[in-house]
Amino acid sequence: MTQLKKNNYNTFSNSLLSWYDFNRRILPWRAPPGEISNPYFVYLSEIMLQQTVVKTVIPYFLKFVRKWPDINALAKAELHEINSYWAGLGYYRRAKNLHETAKIISNKYDGFFPIDKNSLMALPGIGEYTSSAIMAIAFNRKSNVIDGNVERVFSRFYAVEKPIKESKIFIKNIAEKHLPDNRHGDYAQALMDLGSLICIPKSPRCKMCPLLAICDVGGTTSAKQYPIKLPKKEKEERYGLFFYLQNKDGAVLFETNKSSGLLANMDVLPSIGWYEESNRFKKSPKFNKKKLNFLGMKWKILDQNLNHIFTHFKLNCSVAIATISDENALVNDLSKSSYRFVQKTNINNLALPSLIKKILNALKNNEILDF
Ligand code: SF4
Repeated sequence: MTQLKKNNYNTFSNSLLSWYDFNRRILPWRAPPGEISNPYFVYLSEIMLQQTVVKTVIPYFLKFVRKWPDINALAKAELHEINSYWAGLGYYRRAKNLHETAKIISNKYDGFFPIDKNSLMALPGIGEYTSSAIMAIAFNRKSNVIDGNVERVFSRFYAVEKPIKESKIFIKNIAEKHLPDNRHGDYAQALMDLGSLICIPKSPRCKMCPLLAICDVGGTTSAKQYPIKLPKKEKEERYGLFFYLQNKDGAVLFETNKSSGLLANMDVLPSIGWYEESNRFKKSPKFNKKKLNFLGMKWKILDQNLNHIFTHFKLNCSVAIATISDENALVNDLSKSSYRFVQKTNINNLALPSLIKKILNALKNNEILDF
């Protein structure tokens, strides 16, 4: 590190905070200047922002706080209702953790978030990043809040010659040294805003950056080459078959996914596969037998299929359809707590993940089914 950099910790934070005073993003969970942040708003927004962009989160956040204005109200909600409000945000385990954490804060801490990082990290769904963000933003405590935006800013500022994966500890340590002695919440949010508005991934807007004069790559054509990238991995491709079963009244069979994994506690069409290879999906006699006899029914497998992208894999979805005249025998065969027929007018009230919405829309738009 150069002597210039050592002397510039204060210049860095002062420049950033002055820029923030005039350029901060106005976001519904943020307190106006000079006012104290609402810890529930900070917490809720940070959970929603895990893996989801700000623009998508805003309407969900507003819907949530209108319905559940404080942590005690959220603690009293039914998980199924929270899931239906969460539907479309993805990573549904977050909704379950939100509910669990709300109940703990309400019952164990009388509705007040603990002002202690270890206690925050003991709560479901709150890790290193979220606890640091709550400590800084909600409680104005000195706290090293490092997300992807912040890593990108420091990687460029110091022209770090290693990919983020290999430079995390260096960036964490150097970021710690840059923390100012006051305005901790503003500083954390200023770094986030700089990463979102100015030091953006593809083409950093160096000319507008308050750090331009002291940044190692600021204003150069090489700025956008940082952070150094690792070669991209192809997404794994998987195959799944979804079953669309209507009864004589036109109601559709849904299942509440009781597993703790992907789409946990969401309402889904029953399905098989997901981990199948293409060959197995199309050719295996065992799998074919399973798919043609699912629930002891005769199915028509539609020619059209669609893809849905998850973080780690691409799901190639096929759909099988059937109707049943007497569902009683069938439902008796199934776990009644997980499966139920839902009238089409009520489908929108379910906690539907984007994948299932996409399948239902495709069926509707192709006019294969009479919706
Ligand atoms: S000067 Fe450019 S590269 Fe450096 S921090 Fe600012 S926007 Fe990023």
